Amino acid sequence: MLNECKLNPQSEIMERVRIIVVGAGVVGLSTAVCIAESIPHCSVTVLAEKCSPDTTSDVAAGMLHAPLFPDIPVDRQKRWFKNTFDHLLAISESSEAADAGVFLVFGWEIFREVPREKRPFWSQDVLGFRFMTDAELKKFPQHKFGHAFTTIKCECLTYLPWLEKRFRKAGGQIQLGRVTDFGQLCQGYDIIVNCSGLGSTALAGDRQLHPVRGQILKVYAPWLKHFIRDGDGLTYIYPGAKSVTLGGTRQAGDWRLMADGEERVEIFERCCRLEPSLQKSLQLGDAVGLRPGRRNLRLEREMYQFRNRQVPIVHNYGHGGGGISLSWGTALETLQLVQQCVSDRPLPSRL
Ligand code: FAD
Repeated sequence: MLNECKLNPQSEIMERVRIIVVGAGVVGLSTAVCIAESIPHCSVTVLAEKCSPDTTSDVAAGMLHAPLFPDIPVDRQKRWFKNTFDHLLAISESSEAADAGVFLVFGWEIFREVPREKRPFWSQDVLGFRFMTDAELKKFPQHKFGHAFTTIKCECLTYLPWLEKRFRKAGGQIQLGRVTDFGQLCQGYDIIVNCSGLGSTALAGDRQLHPVRGQILKVYAPWLKHFIRDGDGLTYIYPGAKSVTLGGTRQAGDWRLMADGEERVEIFERCCRLEPSLQKSLQLGDAVGLRPGRRNLRLEREMYQFRNRQVPIVHNYGHGGGGISLSWGTALETLQLVQQCVSDRPLPSRL
């Protein structure tokens, strides 16, 4: 049964808009929360084949550090990152921080050669961004240049259940199920929001979308407090609340979800070269996730022809290696498109 939304006097005379969000990863749940908390006269359902702890988002290390999409204006990407950072920063500063799994972490991003863009587009949004000093760089003799900054770690194994709770509190409901065709949803819903990540290869027939496989290793090393990330994005050490995430791999077109033993050894050795104290860490286990790779993230509205009517679909997927970092910002922009769909709807007949 659908939970009832609170209606205000004006909206009582309006028909309730039925909105369905496909996907319960960090993108789907963030989007569903934004909609459920902002559009009063609606019912919002999340429908997903898998929920936490079984989504790609649950595998992510959850560091806020975004890739640059080549054909999307940088200002738009900056807005996505900043809105996400500010939203999570507010949580990290509140009494909810531990329950949400969101906290600040300081560390270094190091480069073997000085990069062409010395300041990434998000450098003004993280805290205290600066170039590394010579004294700091001495720790990494193979590297010539680096960034030092404080960013956010958002641990989805904790954050997604927290978002689910917030969504239910706003009147939303969550159902498990696989969608094979958008037509399935057109009878029961007025607006479809597609946050199915890599699932959009089949669901939206998107041939630009592809998996970028990532394998990680979790270790117990509570003495590590600083993150270290090689600028090539392949090797990283991210201390978390209960374990340290060691990464990783980035294999485009690879659909394997099983962890590979040889890759585990290689990841561990690479990380030990950057941080020799890891030799004494305890290995806890590995995980694999398939990033929804796409040249450019897809955030747009399209009209889907279903029998004799048109149903709006708002797509929000293809976040690649930056889904946590852009989750709230892209959810807010999706909300704007959903609000436009709501106001564009024809008025209900009074007969
Ligand atoms: P998902 O989490 O995959 O969720 C998709 C949802 O859609 C799921 O609920 C799924 O069941 C559902 N779904 C799919 N198809 C259907 C269907 N047909 N019917 C019904 N439901 C469907 N990002 C960062 O920002 N920072 C990091 O530090 C970071 N580290 C990473 C490390 C690794 C090893 C990996 C693999 C990824 C990392 N990422 C990181 C990237 C991040 O994980 C992704 O960008 C993000 O999880 C994408 O979120 P999503 O909600 O779009 O997809």
